[in-house]
Amino acid sequence: MGSKIEVIQGDITKVKADAIVNAANTSLLGGGGVDGAIHRAGGKGILEDCYKIRERQGGCKTGEAVITTGGNLPAKYVIHTVGPVWSKSNDQKARHLLANAYSNSLKVAVENGVETIAFPNISTGIYHFPKSEAAVIAVATVKYFLNANQQVKKVIFVCFDDENYRLYQSLLTNDQ
Ligand code: ADP
Repeated sequence: MGSKIEVIQGDITKVKADAIVNAANTSLLGGGGVDGAIHRAGGKGILEDCYKIRERQGGCKTGEAVITTGGNLPAKYVIHTVGPVWSKSNDQKARHLLANAYSNSLKVAVENGVETIAFPNISTGIYHFPKSEAAVIAVATVKYFLNANQQVKKVIFVCFDDENYRLYQSLLTNDQ
């Protein structure tokens, strides 16, 4: 089971997988960080699909996920999920919503025949979720899902910064 999970350091827009996940915001209209990088590299096809989703359901709620084309990216699809903004006074809710962002992205992946999927470190940038806690939640949620579902063959955690890369490596080294 462990070998279904891979950790790499780099830019998720370069990753060739059936789907890459975007740490979007509720508007789905793009933003900074990984969201900006995905829209820049993927081109206008992604934004056009986001507008269609907005017309249909008014955006994407925190913890939920929607799917668009991958546009010019090597990935076929982008799954946009919205992680929570970290809140010390509401930390249990934030943890729960972060787990939902991972599991709902995987659910959307399965609904669309995705077998390989790459995740960025959702909420650990502009949304300030503590990296160590976010990594524990991400790994636990993905493992739980992979145990229950055989369709997804590979999950790649794409870490941008050194700290996240080290955290994920140490969480996953023991079960590869
Ligand atoms: P959030 O608003 O969910 O915190 P951010 O985009 O600010 O989203 O950050 C999420 C994570 O994505 C951070 O760990 C950040 O370092 C990382 N990141 C930024 N650019 C990229 C990229 N091109 N590829 C992969 N990860 C990225």
